[in-house]
Amino acid sequence: MDQFLIKNRVLGVDISMERTTYAIVDVRGNIIAQDYFNTLDYPNVNEYISVLVDKVIELTELNGGYDTIRSMGVSCPSANFLTGSIENAANMPWKGVVPMAAMLRDRLGMAVAVGNDAHVSALGEHVFGLAHGMNNFVVISLGHGIGSCIFSQGRPHLGAEGFAGEFGHTCVIPEGRQCGCGNKGCLETYCAERGIVTTAHELMQDSNEPSLMRQQERLTPRIIFECCEQGDAMAQEVFRRTGRTLGFSLASLASVIDPEAFIFTGGIAKAGHWLLDSAREVFEEHVFHNIQGRVKFLRSTFNDRERDVLGASVLAWGIKEYSLFK
Ligand SMILES: [Zn+2]
Repeated sequence: MDQFLIKNRVLGVDISMERTTYAIVDVRGNIIAQDYFNTLDYPNVNEYISVLVDKVIELTELNGGYDTIRSMGVSCPSANFLTGSIENAANMPWKGVVPMAAMLRDRLGMAVAVGNDAHVSALGEHVFGLAHGMNNFVVISLGHGIGSCIFSQGRPHLGAEGFAGEFGHTCVIPEGRQCGCGNKGCLETYCAERGIVTTAHELMQDSNEPSLMRQQERLTPRIIFECCEQGDAMAQEVFRRTGRTLGFSLASLASVIDPEAFIFTGGIAKAGHWLLDSAREVFEEHVFHNIQGRVKFLRSTFNDRERDVLGASVLAWGIKEYSLFK
């Protein structure tokens, strides 16, 4: 190997239930090349890793060569940066503890870091997005579940064991709806995808009011949003209630950590003002008075996958270089 070769690129990988996106990213955050495949095509994790490794090597060989790649960063739900493992992921096909960073490092012969999706989103926003220049902010991801990453004094707060940020599993209604985590009344049973649909069904059952939602074969947050846009009062009430619950929780969080901003990501953030206006209203009612009126509510302007690939590249630059072949 040429000893003067500079490794001036990294690999950024975003793994979600639907799709795995992998990209070569340069030092300035330019995506040089990218591709994707369906995550669920490989329910066996060993097979999944083999396919991912083959595909990223092929991508590097077509785009400047494997030797120009310094390291790899990976975003995945339930990943723990401190252990490099995906740990008991509720929303992924691989059960138990998967030592993802070690498995990839052994196959690729380069340093690999993994982080959970909210952690990686926060890195992406901090370096390339709305949080550029902010030292204290929180990324809240609203999707299948609710994740968060608290940036404090310019660094992500990971916690003693790397499990910090489980905002979705804070209790909002004691003895409330059953959560997949085993507890009851967790925030995500009200404000993540399934929770929002449950609220819609409850509202339809509790009244005889007409609603466009009643004509749908299957409800999703996106369909409820479309009903809102068409002026459907009951659909608007679904997001208003969801927003109130979310705002109440955000007020508690802000009173503890005093952030400059909340940045909302994920599919449900696309509901925009239908959700966030009522969240903001309740937030201001409940947050500690010194903080009132100061915390920005921002919706990420990034395409989620692009941000997470770039965030994964930030993770990759942050780890020590390593090569099996030196
Ligand atoms: Zn829970």
